[in-house]
Amino acid sequence: MRHIPFVDLKAGFAPIKAEVMQAIEETLTGMNLNIGPNCQALEREFAAYCGTEYAVGVGSGTAALQFALLAAGVKGGAEVITSPHTFFATAEAIVCIGAIPVFVDIDPKTYTIDPQAIEKKITAKTAAIIPVHMYGQCADMSPINEISQRYGLAVIEDACQAHGALYQGKKSGALGTAGCFSFYFTKNLGAYGEGGIVTTNDARIAEKVRLFLNHGHTSKYEHAVIGYNGRLDEIQAAILRIRLRLLDDYNRRRRELAAEYRKLLFDLPLVLPAEAEARQHVFHLYVIRSAERDRLMAHLTDKGVGTGIHYRNPIHLQKAVTYLGYNRGAVPAAEQACEEILSLPMYPELSHDDLAYIAEAAREFYSRQGAA
Ligand SMILES: *Cc1c(COP(=O)(O)O)cnc(C)c1O
Repeated sequence: MRHIPFVDLKAGFAPIKAEVMQAIEETLTGMNLNIGPNCQALEREFAAYCGTEYAVGVGSGTAALQFALLAAGVKGGAEVITSPHTFFATAEAIVCIGAIPVFVDIDPKTYTIDPQAIEKKITAKTAAIIPVHMYGQCADMSPINEISQRYGLAVIEDACQAHGALYQGKKSGALGTAGCFSFYFTKNLGAYGEGGIVTTNDARIAEKVRLFLNHGHTSKYEHAVIGYNGRLDEIQAAILRIRLRLLDDYNRRRRELAAEYRKLLFDLPLVLPAEAEARQHVFHLYVIRSAERDRLMAHLTDKGVGTGIHYRNPIHLQKAVTYLGYNRGAVPAAEQACEEILSLPMYPELSHDDLAYIAEAAREFYSRQGAA
């Protein structure tokens, strides 16, 4: 039996090992570790990649969301509209700055926030919207930006799963007031530790993010506001510069693999990922839907195929936010998705044979179903 892990960081490291080790050695030889030359260069290179004026390196994707919200002027007690179908950190960042997450439902085809559901939830307290570019596909940004302009709201993109994704030809991170990215190891652009970045075209927002990430530090011995320790690590920045140059190749390979999965799986009783019009998906995750999700998952595990669920429980039903008072049924499309979604292995180093094996294992599950 073969074993195909859900992620394989070692396979991604092997081809760039020499370059990475050299970059680490140079960084440590220079010992310029506090927002040093690699951090500054990465900021320029990532802004150029996204097509934004500014990019500011921070300590994580979660920190990026917190600092972007604060920089956009979201205050304690304000409401921030977002999707409950995301990694917990999206909501956590809102709560950690003292604001209140307001959950609206998703479009079940793209798993991104349903723009039509947003407007009904806007109140006098609403300050921002956080669309999440889920699994590598951008949310439907045009109507979201239109609503935000009408009501004077900030739009903070959670692009933590969507480095390089396109919407109407523009890159994620360049589609709202500010864009937030994570460099957690498994993301499309991953470091070998923690990291994140905020992109924006607004000079004031970039400047404020810089203030918050470094203790509100304005000049030697002077602190203008209460901030955080949220700097991007210089060694991670050196590694990220190498991997940023490869990001388009990585994403191209992910798209090829997605097309191959589609050819191999299209006739099974599964819902496969859909690419919406004018969007280019970068397949951070390859998420299918099955009415028999848990049994299919167990079968794939038996066959040596690693899988995941992103995520099993919608955020509005998590214990940590019971105080918000949501019940089951509040966001039905997101709740339904959680019951059926299954993430198959998706990383650039997967081979044609790997995918054929995974598809064969899924096919076997359904042929047994038929026989039973
Ligand atoms: C990974 C992720 C985050 C958090 O990023 P960290 O770097 O782990 O803090 C936030 N939102 C989404 C959608 C993510 O996938």
